[in-house]
Amino acid sequence: MAITTEAKRIPLIAGNWKLNLDHLQSIAFVQKLAWVLKDARLDFRNVDVAVFPPFTDLRSVQSLIAADKFSISLGAQDVSVHDSGAYTGEISGAFLKALDCTYVIVGHSERRSYHHESSELVGEKAAAAVRHGLIPILCVGETAEDLETRGASAVPVEQLETALKSLPKGADIVVAYEPVWAIGSGQPATPDQAENVAAELRGVIRAAWGEEAAARTRILYGGSVKSSNIASFMREPNLDGALVGGASLIVEEFAKIARFQSHVGV
Ligand code: PEP
Repeated sequence: MAITTEAKRIPLIAGNWKLNLDHLQSIAFVQKLAWVLKDARLDFRNVDVAVFPPFTDLRSVQSLIAADKFSISLGAQDVSVHDSGAYTGEISGAFLKALDCTYVIVGHSERRSYHHESSELVGEKAAAAVRHGLIPILCVGETAEDLETRGASAVPVEQLETALKSLPKGADIVVAYEPVWAIGSGQPATPDQAENVAAELRGVIRAAWGEEAAARTRILYGGSVKSSNIASFMREPNLDGALVGGASLIVEEFAKIARFQSHVGV
């Protein structure tokens, strides 16, 4: 029996600030973003907009969002596998939850490559997030070399299959397909290519957790997303939003991406 729950997948437009904007800049940025989205009459019932500032900004942004009742969600860029204890420099999911974070990014390619994070560790981080009531945004993606030698989907599929093993069946997660060669390069994947890999990733969730979980899990595309190309990705049936890096640091540009429904033509 076909399950038609796709309409319930509210798109997520997520801005990963990486190592940019201090706590004062973050306040000015989020205030302006909220005003621009309000002026544009963005209907937050149809799209989740989330920002992912550095850890040191989270308290400032949380306070602003709470005080001004902004409909913008908050997320962190990483989380520890540990809940507490002698782990210098680590940040617990419990602390993120206490700061009203909804999401946390795990397994971003920059952490996989610069910090040598394996898919097993990424799975454990995702599990830590779930344990604390956070929604992990589990990033997967192939390098240019992987693409050439193994095609687009083999590595992301493997990365997701491995990470899912650490998670409780049917956990609330978001998957972000981010081809490493597309990140920050100005050369996004084609919508067709992103859709094909996203469909395979949904198949991985279906095989591991069943149809209901596969139908409700959001799959994002990330890699050189801009306001000029977001519509083409959002027309694809298996793409439910975007993880945005560079373009999320420009208020007007990120707001235009969040408003993709006004220019997607569907
Ligand atoms: C990212 O780092 O997750 C990303 C998608 O970056 P950019 O949008 O700059 O390619």
